[in-house]
Amino acid sequence: MNNENKTIHDFDFSLICEFFSSMERQGPGSLDVTLKALSFIDNLTDKSLIADIGCGTGGQTMTLAKHAQGEITALDIFPDFISMLNCNAEQLGLQNRVKGIVGSMTEELPFEKESLDLIWSEGAIYNIGFERGLKEWSRYLKTGGYIVVSESSWFTDERPKEINDFWMNAYPEIDTIPNQVAKIHKAGYLPVATFILPESCWTENYFAPKIKAMKIFLNKYQGNKTAEELAMSQGYEEVLYRKYKDFYGYTFFIAKKIGL
Ligand code: SAH
Repeated sequence: MNNENKTIHDFDFSLICEFFSSMERQGPGSLDVTLKALSFIDNLTDKSLIADIGCGTGGQTMTLAKHAQGEITALDIFPDFISMLNCNAEQLGLQNRVKGIVGSMTEELPFEKESLDLIWSEGAIYNIGFERGLKEWSRYLKTGGYIVVSESSWFTDERPKEINDFWMNAYPEIDTIPNQVAKIHKAGYLPVATFILPESCWTENYFAPKIKAMKIFLNKYQGNKTAEELAMSQGYEEVLYRKYKDFYGYTFFIAKKIGL
């Protein structure tokens, strides 16, 4: 697409994409929590097929590739993220086992039914919705295969209005952990483990690099309204997290597909 054919919307989209692709991860997480979640998975061999859905630029994909056996297909809707992921895989010599592809998680996925041994999705299932994602992705998993997702959760049954309103607007499907575990069970899985991501996954690994990336980005796009609005909304997210972190956070859920 050349510049004259670009609508404002296209430009905004690529600008936002440029910002997030300058970060190693696009959501809260860490090497340690990825490995902790992986420690519950006991079914992988070098023949295993793994999908990493909503992989971003592939921070966790590379961790999986280095620490687990099997072939990984990493899928994301942003082509720039996938280009970066494939570049990184090549640099690490993992290109034979890691393949990034562009696609949408809300469409039919490019996998055979009942073919996958493991579905991984960090901080991304909200794009399809927790219940819908669990249900639809199950079709591609073998019986006995695992699903591992991280998702935002409420830590209490009640919470202050300001943070409740924020989430009801951003992602009303956020729920308490017991309710989320019940949804996993209802979708045909055996819940295997659940743990909350430590605060450092947000503060050190997500917000701190974001502030650094934002400074460079705002400098490059001085006076650009989209860039400024993006900075404002991202800053607000961090303020809310610091104020209300006792009420919500991210949880890893590990579950196994069971037969009927
Ligand atoms: N797993 C990565 C990225 C999480 S951010 C990490 O933890 O760092 C959420 C990701 O979901 C983004 O990379 C975004 O591009 C992707 N995404 C959003 N909507 C999507 C869709 N419909 N299909 C596939 N990926 C999508």
